[in-house]
Amino acid sequence: MRTYDVVGIGIGPFNLGLAALADPLADVDAVFLDQAPEFRWHPGMMIEGATIQVPFLADLVTMADPTSPYSFLAFLKATGRLYPFYVRESFYPLRAEYDQYCRWVAAQLDTLRWGRRVVAVEHDAARDLYVVTAEVADGEGVAGTPGVNARREQYLARHVVLGVGTTPRLPAPLAELAVGDAGPVIHTADYLPHRDALRASGAVTVVGSGQSAAEVYRDLLEDAGPYRLDWVTRSPRFFPMEYTKLTLEMTSPEYTDHFYGLDPELRDLVGREQRNLYKGISGDLIDDIYDTLYRRTALGREVPTTLLTDTEVVAARAEPADDGGREYVLTLRHAQLGRTTEHRTRAVVAATGYGSGVPALLDPVRDRLLLDEQGRFAVTRDYSVSTDGRLHTLNGEEHTHGVTAPDLGFGPWRNSVVLAKVTGREPYAVERRVAFQQFGLPGAEPAAVPGTAPDGGTTATPSGAVAEVAR
Ligand SMILES: Cc1cc2nc3c(=O)[nH]c(=O)nc-3n(C[C@H](O)[C@H](O)[C@H](O)COP(=O)(O)OP(=O)(O)OC[C@H]3O[C@@H](n4cnc5c(N)ncnc54)[C@H](O)[C@@H]3O)c2cc1C
Repeated sequence: MRTYDVVGIGIGPFNLGLAALADPLADVDAVFLDQAPEFRWHPGMMIEGATIQVPFLADLVTMADPTSPYSFLAFLKATGRLYPFYVRESFYPLRAEYDQYCRWVAAQLDTLRWGRRVVAVEHDAARDLYVVTAEVADGEGVAGTPGVNARREQYLARHVVLGVGTTPRLPAPLAELAVGDAGPVIHTADYLPHRDALRASGAVTVVGSGQSAAEVYRDLLEDAGPYRLDWVTRSPRFFPMEYTKLTLEMTSPEYTDHFYGLDPELRDLVGREQRNLYKGISGDLIDDIYDTLYRRTALGREVPTTLLTDTEVVAARAEPADDGGREYVLTLRHAQLGRTTEHRTRAVVAATGYGSGVPALLDPVRDRLLLDEQGRFAVTRDYSVSTDGRLHTLNGEEHTHGVTAPDLGFGPWRNSVVLAKVTGREPYAVERRVAFQQFGLPGAEPAAVPGTAPDGGTTATPSGAVAEVAR
């Protein structure tokens, strides 16, 4: 059997970026597996006109290699969109464009294998290699779907890179609600396929705050009238994503070093406190929602909508409605008032985020995993999760590395660190210092990242020349 240097599990933007950066490297033999039939980026939230929340430079490759043929600008040039993008003068591509760009890159890489659901990672002690087993779907079936005759393939790997993403999280009261009793009870990840049914339900409640909640509320607000539309969130206010430049410097290697070096309990606390860094709502969208409410209620018109903050869904049940149909009754508790009330609705959209964990496919190598007391990955600074440093995670390290984990813009830096581990050299320069501010106290040296230049100021570039990085 062929032995790969890298087997990537999951082909979301992060492993797709790794595949694109590994592609020109003669000393990296890689293959990437995904259970889906093709690349699709958050199809349930591909709302018309939505943009990504990071600049176009946060593509799959540019921050690691601005000369890469897989950059967003190269995509625009190849698809005849460069001039319109130039004239548009916005840093923020449409979400649909980003999805199309990723599929344009995916179509050029021969290291991607779709319709493969990885079910197990084992360790072959004799050869000191990992054995990755995937179920393969034939035809249209997504791998492993019951009834689809899934056969199995095995891949031998020196390094395994987990890019399985995060999974939608539903709060317990909603998760226990009998779906389909009244209208849909869905997570935003499944919004678009259910949009018509939500509108037809007669009364929709959006639960949660953050960009996805706001986008769904705004999307449904335009036609609200024939149906009620309510928005309930635990957050004390509809807070904007913080987007000021000194705060953005926290999406940096230095801040990740600082956060990583904190005591784990303090990290959890600080992590929760930093929600507004990336779990808020873009300021433009908040204003757009306000202006839409203003416009739609002008001239004495009414829009059947309520927006509630500091309010949590603490219980939910389904029961017969007065009109003979079925409805959901949500028990809402206001944190400051300490009082509860009952809210009736016919459908629920939970914008309650995503979670990551240790996937079951790693059970056969559990003894080799680095885990903390809570059973979470105890990820090393250079993104590995195993005692031998050859199992790596992309975007499974928010609890250890902080805000950079889900950030598209930081993907290429992390991939450069992983490729440095795989190759034992630095195919792409790994900047150690990029921020003007200092995190922690002066004199604190950045955490060492094996395989990358030790001193923070300088780093070897692909051409071998030494480049000044510190500002
Ligand atoms: C709606 C939305 C918008 C976002 N917008 C932004 C943004 O603008 N800017 C930003 O910085 N971040 C954004 N994020 C956050 C983050 O960047 C994205 O979630 C990103 O998609 C994460 O990429 P990923 O590669 O970790 O995983 P995902 O994109 O979740 O992909 C994981 C892949 O793994 C596959 N997979 C899972 N398990 C297996 C298995 N066992 N075998 C084979 N394949 C498997 C899945 O099929 C999937 O294709 C957004 C998130 C959401 C939900």
